[in-house]
Amino acid sequence: MTSDTSIATAIADVRARIAAAAKSCGRDPASVHLIAVSKTHGADKAAAALAAGQQDFGENRVQEAEDKWPALKAAHAPRLHLIGPLQTNKARDAVALFDVIHTLDRPRLAEKLAAEMQAQGRSLSCFVQVNTGREEQKAGVDPKDADAFITACRDEWRIPVVGLMCIPPVNEEPALHFAFLREIAKRNGLAQLSMGMSDDFEIAIALGATHIRVGSAIFGARA
Ligand SMILES: *Cc1c(COP(=O)(O)O)cnc(C)c1O
Repeated sequence: MTSDTSIATAIADVRARIAAAAKSCGRDPASVHLIAVSKTHGADKAAAALAAGQQDFGENRVQEAEDKWPALKAAHAPRLHLIGPLQTNKARDAVALFDVIHTLDRPRLAEKLAAEMQAQGRSLSCFVQVNTGREEQKAGVDPKDADAFITACRDEWRIPVVGLMCIPPVNEEPALHFAFLREIAKRNGLAQLSMGMSDDFEIAIALGATHIRVGSAIFGARA
């Protein structure tokens, strides 16, 4: 169990590490957005992070987020980021609850998200997830299809694509994947990069991350 004070302390520590990492590569620390990944942790933990001034939160399951967030959202207006795979039959609920989607990775989902945003009169910033390691079991568009998919998201479905996201394979050097993602973003004119987690966010910042997704370093180990 992590107490409220330790969550506040952990957030302060992570923020200090972000500032140090940004400064050491000549970046403005304010250009790195910290997303506190509260998946599997209860509303009490999320509330403690909110009380510590944390504004951006990541969840990987729509249903879990719907159980946890509505009251906190009404009271504190945090920004909610969906960082897990999205089934098309959950697109409606996701558009209603979340502010940012990090896992846009296929045409059927793009089509559904576009229709739901239109129907609900909401515009969610979206990151296209790229499967940089080309892992069979992992979500994300294949790197060779990324350019065409990004173009279609913008031109065909008019989705506000703001950047790219990746989750490097567990046993590989993350820097290679972060640099690869940055290249794909650059040639597509995308400014934002969602990359870096508890174990590698400093490397991600050095390679241009604008959004880091940090769970265990803030909330402790997940069950
Ligand atoms: C769980 C998760 C994180 C956070 O991982 P930690 O190692 O706990 O920081 C980041 N991104 C995604 C996509 C996740 O599912």
